[in-house]
Amino acid sequence: MSLTEALDVRPGPAANLILRRATVLDPVAGIDGVHDVVVRDGEIAELAGPGEGRSEGAEIVEAEGMHAFPAFFDPHVHLRTPGHEHKEDVETGTRAAAAGGYCGILAMANTEPPVSSAADVAALREQARADASVPVGFMATVTRDMKGEELTEMVELREAGAVGFTDDGLPIASARVMLRALQYQRLCGGTIALHEEDPELSGAGVMHEGPVSAALGLAGVPSVSESTMIARDAALAAYENARIHVQHLSAAESVDVVRAAKAAGVQISAEASPHHLCLTDEEVRSLDARRFKMNPPLRRESDRQALIAALRDGTIECIATDHAPHHLDEKEVPFEQAAFGVTGLETAFAALHTELVMPGVIDLGLLVERLAGGAAPFDVPRPTLAPGAEANVALCDLAAEWTVGEDGYESRSSNSWCEGRTLTGRVLVTVAAGQVAFRLRSFSLGVAS
Ligand SMILES: [Zn+2]
Repeated sequence: MSLTEALDVRPGPAANLILRRATVLDPVAGIDGVHDVVVRDGEIAELAGPGEGRSEGAEIVEAEGMHAFPAFFDPHVHLRTPGHEHKEDVETGTRAAAAGGYCGILAMANTEPPVSSAADVAALREQARADASVPVGFMATVTRDMKGEELTEMVELREAGAVGFTDDGLPIASARVMLRALQYQRLCGGTIALHEEDPELSGAGVMHEGPVSAALGLAGVPSVSESTMIARDAALAAYENARIHVQHLSAAESVDVVRAAKAAGVQISAEASPHHLCLTDEEVRSLDARRFKMNPPLRRESDRQALIAALRDGTIECIATDHAPHHLDEKEVPFEQAAFGVTGLETAFAALHTELVMPGVIDLGLLVERLAGGAAPFDVPRPTLAPGAEANVALCDLAAEWTVGEDGYESRSSNSWCEGRTLTGRVLVTVAAGQVAFRLRSFSLGVAS
């Protein structure tokens, strides 16, 4: 199965190009070397010797010194449609994804109204077939209108094409409702993705509870708000032999719970976001603190280190941006009132390359693997550069320096946590679902052969 078959995308011309002398790295497929990547009719036709690729009519991209990776997959994106198209929609959100090197994304269901019916899913899928520049899968809510009470018609939603279920934005507070949802999940498939926090422990918290929140006099969200709910849901998933995916892990305690659950054989997967891997709650002391307000909050350095260790040992199998566009009106208010969430699609690769790979914290192969690791937990085919596969390629220049926000964003929103930072590493070309989905304006592609 290909991404095109699994998800929805706007049809377009199939890519025909040769990435000449690219450094090709696909750790999962065991590919690591300099090749001509021959993309013919939207497929990886061949990894030829450097300078030896031939394909009639193909566009030649001189890619010497550049890296070709399997394009990335983000299982956690807020496209904001229906209801908040002034923040993002299918067209702008998938353009942002393509600019970030992504060949596929999953859209969360906390829209207005939330995606709770088969008709909602069908309408979004139709929109994606008209407007999406990379394949999109749609999640549906677990509970009707995300009220946490009644379950949606999960079987019907799956038949309509919902990739999975989530009330992301809110936890499922009731253990009884959660247990019922897991019983249906086992019946109809589709992973349940969980935003884990105990609403009573989180209270009115606006940042991590610790010395920084105490110093700033801000209400805190303790780490155990997250880890206790993960422990509950891991136990329920084990009891029902059902499958769960934990979203945006932020705390060391949470990592311990997921690791123990995996060791016990629970069907549990987990993601971490670039901002939790790169930043700590110290950022909230900055003048621009609103850029660092998200849920779950940035936590301690020891939490960040625990997330990195989990990324390395596979406890966290994927990186997810939790791309959460907001209009500036919702951010240019006092910290307590500012909306939670930051954008991330356009900067994830560059930020993680700059903050983790360049200083030697993780190696490039691991980053590339984890950036595409979000497909498998949702039964979406993993992007690969193996010959014969649908072409899903991110061509990157690891030496390119750029300042985030300088040339604007493809996203309709600008609430990037990287705004103004100089990052090293840039996506030049993205091929998604066999089509050229993005080319960096300042990077000129070659001539027809
Ligand atoms: Zn969330």
